[in-house]
Amino acid sequence: MTKYNSRAASRRPATAGRKFSGSSRRNQKSSHRGAYIHPSKFINKATITTTETVYESKHTFKDFGFQSILQHNLDKKGFTKPSAIQDQAIKPILEGKDVVGLANTGTGKTAAFVLPLIEKLIGRPPQPTVLIMAPTRELALQINDEFKIFSQGLRLFSALVVGGTDINRQIRELKRGQHVIIGTPGRLRDLMNRGQIDLSKVACLVLDEADRMLDMGFVNDIRSIIQDLPEKRQTLFFSATITQSIRVLIDEFLTDHIEISVRTADTSERVDQDVLYANTKEEKLEQLIALLQSPEFEKTLVFGETKFGVQRLSDHIEKIGISSVAIHGNKSQPQRQRALRAFKDNTAKVMVATDVAARGLDIPNVTHVINFDQPMTYEDYVHRIGRTGRAGATGKALTFVPRNNQ
Ligand code: ADP
Ligand code: MG
Repeated sequence: MTKYNSRAASRRPATAGRKFSGSSRRNQKSSHRGAYIHPSKFINKATITTTETVYESKHTFKDFGFQSILQHNLDKKGFTKPSAIQDQAIKPILEGKDVVGLANTGTGKTAAFVLPLIEKLIGRPPQPTVLIMAPTRELALQINDEFKIFSQGLRLFSALVVGGTDINRQIRELKRGQHVIIGTPGRLRDLMNRGQIDLSKVACLVLDEADRMLDMGFVNDIRSIIQDLPEKRQTLFFSATITQSIRVLIDEFLTDHIEISVRTADTSERVDQDVLYANTKEEKLEQLIALLQSPEFEKTLVFGETKFGVQRLSDHIEKIGISSVAIHGNKSQPQRQRALRAFKDNTAKVMVATDVAARGLDIPNVTHVINFDQPMTYEDYVHRIGRTGRAGATGKALTFVPRNNQ
């Protein structure tokens, strides 16, 4: 009943010749580099505490009628109740509807689409049936990890198609045949241009973190990829925020979609935010080290501006005897993964990152976010501090500002 091939062919009305206005819209970067942010914007008491009303799921996972192995994998993973977005999105996705899912970061959007898609893929031949696009390599990897966990024992295969890895190896891997392709727009486009990826059988397209993808200037790649997919397909957009440019894409590429918004208070409202005054880099370093040495800074994410600066800062922290890793664009993919893993499993207390490298990463239990360098935009700021204060916990964020602003 929930198989792709059982969906009525009429679901997508005849839209042959739909026009895409792909040419004129430039990469819509919403950021203005270096726009001044008044320090008062970095000071906020968390207004949402752990007593925030808990969402009451209308479904249990059992209600979705997943096949027993999938249900077993869910149990093994320890998911007992669907999160709000899962509660509301899984059924329509099973039914083949186009869905726009809006939910705060850290609320389980990945499983909201991965679970029903696995259910629908069971028993199908290993050809690309689901295409998932994500803004960064790390995110694609996280989705792939989650897919693997939930599809264990089901003989479902996935391919990770991201930059920074050997493209020829990817091409060879793709020849083996997979049900799911998970990738970043740039590398996907590249492989499509080389004719090395066959997306003619894609029955479902997922855009994860659509807002981030647009922020990162992927709009043209996304458009050109979607234009090459079969028109008769299911399309799912997941995002933490909805912007005008996402609306445009929704209008272009989704059909009779349903929109599910379970956004609650902004993550930033769960985070205690304050500033630290320092005029020179040395002053900043001194204060930073003092903070990192205090026991409450159990798991701290430090943001820096440049790849080089981030690496140097991490090396400095490490030299002082505090375990630290760095994540930035100059690192190879395996290096980035190793760093992320060390931070996730608490081998490293500190991770120093650039904005792009840290985008969308799911790192549980970050106690503090420190903005060693100020973010370029307030939007970046909100994303940075969203790494803490997740899953009902209150987090802390500190931002260095020059003293003469006092
Ligand atoms: P988002 O994509 O919305 O930012 P993720 O899908 O990355 O969120 O999920 C955030 C965290 O919550 C992950 O560690 C995930 O394993 C966990 N999680 C998701 N759904 C559930 C659930 N139903 N029960 C318990 N934990 C969950
Ligand atoms: Mg996500």
